[in-house]
Amino acid sequence: MNKRGILLVISGPSGVGKGTVINKLFDIDDNLYFSVSATTRSPRPGEVDGVHYSFKTREEFERDIENGEMLEYAEFGGNYYGTPKSAVEKKLAQGKDVVLDIEIQGARNVKRLMPEAVTVYILPPDMTELKNRLVGRKTEDESAIKVRIETAYKELREAPKLYDFFVVNDTVDSAAAKIENILEAKRCGKTAMETALKQILEEVDSLA
Ligand code: ADP
Ligand code: 5GP
Repeated sequence: MNKRGILLVISGPSGVGKGTVINKLFDIDDNLYFSVSATTRSPRPGEVDGVHYSFKTREEFERDIENGEMLEYAEFGGNYYGTPKSAVEKKLAQGKDVVLDIEIQGARNVKRLMPEAVTVYILPPDMTELKNRLVGRKTEDESAIKVRIETAYKELREAPKLYDFFVVNDTVDSAAAKIENILEAKRCGKTAMETALKQILEEVDSLA
């Protein structure tokens, strides 16, 4: 059956567990494609260019913007982050569900361009746990953690107005299972089933 994929936008405060939950989601769902973002931030230990991010200089990133290659982009913690347009469009057309891990400004822009996108905001069980996870990851120094926490406060105030779904990341398994349920429901929705409904109705017309 010829079906266009779903664009699934995942956001949440830094350290809430977006990357961890998305990895779990890929274990339980084989129709997903992860959109590898471009960024000007430095790779963390273990991060692979082209797998976790495409790591770029500011000059390279700005050239990509000028050339219209970004679906959306934003600045976060002093660095650029953006979604390359071409892979997203290609995979959606192939029927793959495309996962974006992006912050709130990017999510707002994606929703404006593609209102059919499904947006999920991941919440921490509480703010103490969020801070513990962010500090416990040991990937940012104290000043970068402070900026990320302040950005989290700002995001959390705006998120209720913007996102379709809110999933608490209490355990990774339950958070991933909830997102999988959201995807399953959306795959049966009117938008996702448009082509299939058209095909059935053409058959009905030919029989009637
Ligand atoms: P994000 O991508 O949202 O910045 P990460 O996926 O890097 O967050 O997770 C931040 C830290 O929290 C990591 O050390 C990760 O192992 C941990 N973590 C993620 N989910 C949970 C959870 N449900 N319970 C406890 N720790 C978690
Ligand atoms: P990190 O540096 O922790 O990997 O990511 C910082 C923030 O940037 C996270 O909120 C993440 O969701 C966001 N982000 C990652 N890629 C993109 C992107 O392509 N576009 C936007 N707008 N945000 C992104």
